[in-house]
Amino acid sequence: MSSREFVYEKFRGFYNNPSLAVPTPVGFAQREFAFLLFRERVMARHKGFANPKTLSAFLKERIPSDVYYSCAYYENPEADMDKKGWSGADLVFDIDADHIPTSCNKIHDEWRCTNSECQFSGGFNGKGITPETCPICGGVKFEVKSWPCDVCIDTTRAEARKLVDMLENDFGFASHEIRTFFSGHRGFHVHVEHEAIRSLDAMGRREVVDYVMGTGLAMFRKSRKDLPKQKKGAKVFSLNDYGWNRRLKNGMRKFILNATKDDLKEIGIKGRTEVILQNKDRILKECVEENRWSNVKGVGVETWLKVAEHVRDLESAQIDTVVTTDIHRLIRAEGTLHGKTGLLKVEFPVSQLDEVDVFKEAVAFKEGSAKVLVSDAPEFRLGGETFGPFKNKAVELPTAAAVLLICKGRAELVT
Ligand SMILES: [Zn+2]
Ligand SMILES: [Zn+2]
Repeated sequence: MSSREFVYEKFRGFYNNPSLAVPTPVGFAQREFAFLLFRERVMARHKGFANPKTLSAFLKERIPSDVYYSCAYYENPEADMDKKGWSGADLVFDIDADHIPTSCNKIHDEWRCTNSECQFSGGFNGKGITPETCPICGGVKFEVKSWPCDVCIDTTRAEARKLVDMLENDFGFASHEIRTFFSGHRGFHVHVEHEAIRSLDAMGRREVVDYVMGTGLAMFRKSRKDLPKQKKGAKVFSLNDYGWNRRLKNGMRKFILNATKDDLKEIGIKGRTEVILQNKDRILKECVEENRWSNVKGVGVETWLKVAEHVRDLESAQIDTVVTTDIHRLIRAEGTLHGKTGLLKVEFPVSQLDEVDVFKEAVAFKEGSAKVLVSDAPEFRLGGETFGPFKNKAVELPTAAAVLLICKGRAELVT
């Protein structure tokens, strides 16, 4: 049996399990479903299902490696794109370690340009986040080797936490109106299905994205040249206790309280570091609390803008902006397997966001074991156990761990 057949058999077993929980999104019959088929390796799109029973039958028979449905609701989900009859869409957010600089991606992520000319000279390659274009040949296709680790998860978890906080406190959604999921790979999905957002067009969703990312905040809009030369901080800054004002205020308080000389230098404040460090108490009280930003002699509006911009970067949530603005987006269906890991996209209550152990909750294959030859894998956790690191080693592993390594291209089945 080949490694691929082994994984296929596991996926087949999963979708043929009588107790399989078929995804049942609200507005089920109005959703477009799409499947990456395991055997055919092609995308089957524009599928509609009258009820979960017919979807279940399709899954059993066709065995997809990945299952998606539209965030959109359509009158005719099976029609061509322009004839579907769009009648609304959920608001969805994707937070993925692929797009966020994590401290671990330089360790476990690699990319290689697949342009034939570039290949000729060895194929330009590097570690960390995959660039949009190859720095050598300008090519846009890469062979990517990534890995989901606890640092990836905790980094994306922190971004999801900030996003959920905004949805609850700034947008006013109740926690039961926000659905949180582990994506099955290395990040989180956040869905809002509330009536109030269904009819938002792409422009409206762009506004939501800008808010979440802190893009275009009024105080940063002025060009530096337009600022008054004198220290009229108060004219630019008057932070109240709502929305981004509150986020900036809390963030600036935290930053100033903990700032070292190096922290200040790093954000571009040079000449004023001593004044700031020696006047922390006054700054916190008179500037941050009382909004009297001109009170500290020698520290002007330019300096406060630098601090505020830095804090904006810290407090904004790093989402994949393309996903949220696309009103036709296909999103992975909950309770289905991720073809790159064999892990489930799983939902958990918002209240569990800070502690959910995704590498436990997302395990689908809980029985049996398999012998694999691992080419290269870092130490990893799965189902409450720790494995590896492995380098050119044959090992007997629980099914879920063997499937993960094979799906990530890091092991082959030993037969
Ligand atoms: Zn190249
Ligand atoms: Zn990582």
